[in-house]
Amino acid sequence: MTATTVPATSAPGTTVPEAPVLEAVDVTKHFAVRSAVGARSVVRAVEGGTLALHRGRVVALVGESGSGKTTLARLLAGFYAPTSGEIRLEGTPVRRRRGRVERGYHRDVQLIFQDPFGSLNPLHRVRHNLERPLRLHHAVRGRAELDRRVRELLERVALTPVEQYVDKFPHELSGGQRQRVVIARALAVEPKVLLGDEPISMLDVSIRLEMLNLLDRLRSEDGLALLYITHDIASARYLCDDIVVMYAGEMVEGGPKEQVIAAPQHPYTRLLVESSPDPGRGARDREALFDADADSLGEPPSLIDPPAGCRFHPRCPFAMDVCRTQAPPRTDLGGGRWARCWLHPEGRAGELDRPGTDAGTDAGPVAEHATDRTTQENQ
Ligand code: SF4
Repeated sequence: MTATTVPATSAPGTTVPEAPVLEAVDVTKHFAVRSAVGARSVVRAVEGGTLALHRGRVVALVGESGSGKTTLARLLAGFYAPTSGEIRLEGTPVRRRRGRVERGYHRDVQLIFQDPFGSLNPLHRVRHNLERPLRLHHAVRGRAELDRRVRELLERVALTPVEQYVDKFPHELSGGQRQRVVIARALAVEPKVLLGDEPISMLDVSIRLEMLNLLDRLRSEDGLALLYITHDIASARYLCDDIVVMYAGEMVEGGPKEQVIAAPQHPYTRLLVESSPDPGRGARDREALFDADADSLGEPPSLIDPPAGCRFHPRCPFAMDVCRTQAPPRTDLGGGRWARCWLHPEGRAGELDRPGTDAGTDAGPVAEHATDRTTQENQ
């Protein structure tokens, strides 16, 4: 077995030129909760989360609602302290004083929220919303320089002519324009990392593509490291370099996007891919790419009392006895790919064929296990 503990997802083509800008290393986050009748319990929101973000690259974190994606984003943004594990910025563990990270951390790592309206101060004009971070984090000298910086920021997110937007209140803008202002505000502090928590999901379908193109341009022009959180594998396919899939608080598969989507090695990933429109399957409106909804796949398990063994086993068509009792290790599959599934104990990738189907001639360990299981069930 070649189970590994901490290799981060690597780049397509397997070469990662630089050390990660931001890393989560075996990070766990538990929340203590109390029920209406006073009973205490623990929400296991994230367990064993390991992820690396590199300069100029986009990692998509994909999974349904309640899978722990937003909690991981907040851990990376410094809003939550990990229960265990470590967040590292440029190789240095992030320190907290009285529960808070230093202000400089928030300059380097910016989080973009799902709801652009809730992210902006509704009582202030666009100008004020952009000037505030400039004043807080930069020594901006005088009114003229502030005006120049605000103008530059609006131009960078294509809100032009600037005069048309700079003195508007957030409620006077469209959803897409508001999200552009939110992104401009994040850029004001010249971050190294942008964490986008479902940044397009509340936008009209017609402008989602524009927003993804904007994010793509910013990562290539500024060399930003970008985490793109989504429940929609189609938009992840459009924007990202690597994909990491989360299920019930755990990361279950990761690797270069083309390989993960073309040949998913975890049954949950395959479910996500199959539920997503495929641009190669006939002529579709491009915008339809972004209509897939992983939340339609059914309810995720409780994070207070998750299933024993593999958390996906109650929904998995491949589940074996071992899946119900033992959590699968993270297994390196080569080429930057990994999976957490008992179908890969030997560390080989294979074809995910449903039990009972012809797995082909070079299907690898996945088909072998699936065939074993089908044979057992038929006896
Ligand atoms: Fe399915 Fe077992 Fe793999 Fe979990 S470990 S995804 S139950 S085959």
